[in-house]
Amino acid sequence: MISGNIVFDLPELETGSSPTFFCSILDSDPLNRNRISIMDNLSKFYIDGAWVTPQSEQRFPVLNPATEERVGEIILGNSDDVNLAVAAANRAFETYSRSSKQQRLALLDRLLEVTKSRLEDLAQAMTLEMGAPISMSRDAQADAAVGHLVAYIEALKTQQERSLLANGDTQLYEPIGVCGLITPWNWPVNQVSLKVVPALATGCTCILKPSEHTPISATIYAEIIDEAGYPAGVFNMVHGYGPTVGAAMSRHPDIQMMSFTGSTRAGTAVSKDAADTVKRVTLELGGKSPNLVFADCDLEERITSSVQECFYNTGQSCDAPTRMLVERSCYEEVLEIAQRAAMAQKVGDPTQEGDHLGPLFDQIQFDRVQNLIQVGIDEGARVLVGGVGKPEGLDTGWFVKPTIFADVTESMRVTREEIFGPVLVIMPFEDEAEAIAMANDTPYGLGAYLQTGDSERGERVAAQLKAGAVHINGGGFGYGSPFGGYKQSGNGREGGLQGLEDYQEIKTLHFG
Ligand code: NAD
Repeated sequence: MISGNIVFDLPELETGSSPTFFCSILDSDPLNRNRISIMDNLSKFYIDGAWVTPQSEQRFPVLNPATEERVGEIILGNSDDVNLAVAAANRAFETYSRSSKQQRLALLDRLLEVTKSRLEDLAQAMTLEMGAPISMSRDAQADAAVGHLVAYIEALKTQQERSLLANGDTQLYEPIGVCGLITPWNWPVNQVSLKVVPALATGCTCILKPSEHTPISATIYAEIIDEAGYPAGVFNMVHGYGPTVGAAMSRHPDIQMMSFTGSTRAGTAVSKDAADTVKRVTLELGGKSPNLVFADCDLEERITSSVQECFYNTGQSCDAPTRMLVERSCYEEVLEIAQRAAMAQKVGDPTQEGDHLGPLFDQIQFDRVQNLIQVGIDEGARVLVGGVGKPEGLDTGWFVKPTIFADVTESMRVTREEIFGPVLVIMPFEDEAEAIAMANDTPYGLGAYLQTGDSERGERVAAQLKAGAVHINGGGFGYGSPFGGYKQSGNGREGGLQGLEDYQEIKTLHFG
């Protein structure tokens, strides 16, 4: 129990126990132990602290992208399911919004403990449902659940929920209300934790609609929250299609805020649907991030890792460095290094450990990437590596060839559109001013990358790039830094103090 004006009972954790339904791959019978439990919960929604039978009966298969086999089934919810979840979240908000910071921190600590005990399950689930190779599934995809949680705990400790302004007035941060959270399939647990944790941390209640393509990891995440002992109704989860469940949430009068991550197309729909009820809407959308390569960098090292970074997660990352802009004087040398790096890139079975690439997540994405590679060829871009078709020996599963196009022009579709596959385009620039203009010539503004041996140039160019994050010479993103985009890559920031503030209202008190 936690002291304070509102008391929540925290169930005792059985230390050392791991209530897995996706057991460790070290088990002799992987995926079977407790499998009945996951398959049972998978076809239910988590509402008001319980696994409930959906109102809807519309079924949707969960497919393994490496084998094309059906591995489960979910129910796609409807507006009745959303109404039940919102009603539960509304009721819970009455008390949970008045919880103290100490109570919320204690719950987050429990959440951390339970999350750590289920990391292998999360990793296995994402490998199964979206094809992330198991090593990166563990080290990056599942690790994000802990990384973001720890960073949000630190941010919450730092935040002054009550402060005295210089003019003598008092400023308060308060939870905004019931939040609707919609997430994509490409970094499933990363996105879920980036939204659910700040909602829970600030005293909000929420309804999560995860991607219909990655419901297994989301179901595990809901089980983690349940086991951590959150009061009924604080967290709810409904599966479903965006235009039905997602739209019902965006339009719901009792939801105060929508936090959306996904395509710019769907983000625009969420904004329009939310407009009539004047909700706050935060958006994390697509990107076509430039990578500016100056001749003064360590070309061998920087180009090799830039190519790997572009292909990471089979190119299915919103901030992947997909557009390489290269100083003319080193253009030919860069093409040579990039070609070598891409040819060395292995593709294969995601259940095997290693740094190879897995398949794309779905047939739709496979067709889309194949189509755009063909568009690039038809537009006259030079295929340096890869092309259409599957890699040799990988006929089953949605595997694609890592592909590089050289000599692209600014107007080509492959240069302008987010492809969301392992496809890199490369083009030359003459000088710094042209590089900056080309980098900013996009409706997106999520990430930007810069390779230079001149630190002054690094700062100077970074200041002129219209992007939410600039990675200089391979600098990675730290948990807790605010993440988000300029222009059509969205608005709002996830992570850190700014990530908490997105879920809060500011109230001022004026004493007479
Ligand atoms: P998507 O837009 O198709 O789907 C994302 C989510 O939105 C899913 O849960 C989907 O069901 C839902 N959705 C779809 N239409 C909707 C609607 N009309 N109303 C409400 N919800 C709706 O995107 P995706 O294919 O799942 O993910 C890939 C996209 O996500 C890429 O564009 C990628 O760049 C973007 N993304 C951005 C970030 C970021 O932080 N900026 C992170 C990951 C992915």
